[in-house]
Order: sequence, then C-alpha cells, then structure tokens
Amino acid sequence: MQSPLGKMKYALAFLFVLLAANFLMAQTVREGAGVNRAPDGAGHGTHEVAPSNNAQAGPIGFTVNTGNGINYNGGPVMKGTVNAYIIWYGNWNGTGSNTAATRSAIETFLGTIGGSALELVNTTYGDNTGNVSGAVHFGGSTIVSATQNLTDARVQTQVNNAITSGRLPRDTNGVYFVLSSSNINETSGFCTRYCGWHTRATLGGSDIKYSFVGNVDRCPSGCEIQTTGPNSAAVGQGGIDGMANTMSHELEEAISDPDLNAWFDSSGQENGDKCNFNFGATSTCNANGLCTASGTSAAAKYNQTFGGHNYMLQQNWRNSGGGACAQHL
Ligand SMILES: [Zn+2]
Repeated sequence: MQSPLGKMKYALAFLFVLLAANFLMAQTVREGAGVNRAPDGAGHGTHEVAPSNNAQAGPIGFTVNTGNGINYNGGPVMKGTVNAYIIWYGNWNGTGSNTAATRSAIETFLGTIGGSALELVNTTYGDNTGNVSGAVHFGGSTIVSATQNLTDARVQTQVNNAITSGRLPRDTNGVYFVLSSSNINETSGFCTRYCGWHTRATLGGSDIKYSFVGNVDRCPSGCEIQTTGPNSAAVGQGGIDGMANTMSHELEEAISDPDLNAWFDSSGQENGDKCNFNFGATSTCNANGLCTASGTSAAAKYNQTFGGHNYMLQQNWRNSGGGACAQHL
C-alpha cells in the first residue's frame, strides 16, 4: 500500500526504542524518513518476555482469543464503560495550541471516541471474565496552573493530588491523563524518547491507571504526523491532533493492558505500539467539511470521523483474523 503521506515524505516507519525504566509503556517518537518500520524491543524492561507458544493458553469461555500476533499474559483488561479524566497541567490559557479551545476540543474527543470504529477494535481484547466494551465516557477534568517541568514521579503526584483533593473521583475503571502544555517538559524523555506513556500505580489502596501526554507542538517533528491537522485552529498548530493521536494510542493500551500484565507481544509491544504512527488509508480535509478552516487550507489528512469531527489517529492492533493494524473491525 502506498504510504498515505508519501507526498510529504513522511515514512510510516518508526524505530522502537522502548522506555526501560519505571514500568511505563510509551508511545515512541517518530524516526526520520526512510527507516523501515522496525520494532525493537531491546532494552524494554517493562514486561517479562511472554512465552512464544502460548497461543493455546487457556481461554475460559471465549473472551481470550490468541494466535493473532499478540499474547495474553493473564492480567485483567478494563471492562464496561471506561472513564477518561484529564489533568490539564502547565499553562492552558496560553498561546499557540495551549488554549481553552484545545481543552474543549480534546474533551470533546475523549467524550466521543467511545463506540467509534477505532475504539471497537479494542473489543477484540478480553480476559477470563469478559471483553473490552469499546465504551468510553469523559469523566471530567481539572486544571493545574504550573511552570515546573514534570518528572515521572510528579506525573503520579498530579494524579494522586487530583484524587485526594476530590477534584477528580477515585476510579479504578478510569484512565487519568496528565496533559502538559507545550512549555512544559517531562524530563524522562518527552519528545526525545516518547510522545506519551501509560502506567499504573497503587494510590491510596486503589489500582489507578494513568497516562502522560504532552502537547506535541513542543516537538512536531518527533510526535506529529502533520504540523497542521484536521482540528488545528491555525496553520502549524498541530498539537491538538497530535495529542489526540497519542491519547488514542495510550487509551487503547491502558484499556487492553491496564496493569501491564495482560496484552502485549513477545517483544513487549502493546496493541498501540504494534501500530505506532501507522495510520492506514487517509482522506484529505474538505472531503466532508468537518475540518477547521486551517486544516482544510493545509489539506490535512484524516482517517477517523466521529462526534462531528475528523481525526488523524493511528490504527490499533486487531486481535482477530490473524491480527493486523486496523481502523475498524
Ligand atoms: Zn504504546
């Protein structure tokens, strides 16, 4: 298949240098054009290597389907409606894409991705008591005005603070996104090693799943497939679409591998990792009139439509039919 963005000389090809520390699962940055897609699990210390022959590992009922290029490692998936929360960290009343308009658009995105064609790909994952539902509910957000850079520990602290203060509910069926404005760094490797990551921690006795995603307008070349996206408020402000892409990657992984012991392949790659920055077939803004004026003028690409918006979201690994990156079931 022709690279959907071949004219832009973007390769759908990314080297996987996975984060070894701190039990994080990360969406790695894009690599330069011309690199073949080359997953590299070297240095990945997050997971024990899964047995290569567990394709027959005991499904109870029919909720654990194996033999599709990704392995079940015994842990739970998130079932029922998954609640997504946001902690807006940094300065989200700022310039560029660090704006209230971006906050609103991202919250709309999270509030409508449930049941979308892309989200339903995740329903091919299950555990011994049930399958992922594909339902996602936006559960609320809180704003933390700050100038301090983040560390892995500070990301966790932001989640814990939001819960213990009551600004967000304590929810073991939730995914808490810490979204930083583009002036904020996450010093363990945002923009250099990853675009986002997800993990879990026991906070106040609860198994809390959370994710860091930075505003990728900090590093368009590393974390954006296009510098102007279908939802850009201005040409060159691709952060909103880039963040949505990274968030969908982390959301699918958090749901299918919430405790980092459920679904990943023998290289340690979760479903999102197996399709990192792999978008599949795309359309061009103007086709259905749902892009912003800037997205349309820049002929931005998109491959998903839901909630009245176009999005450019990487595919997800489909755990059926032998397995493949898929935009829909
Ligand atoms: Zn990932």
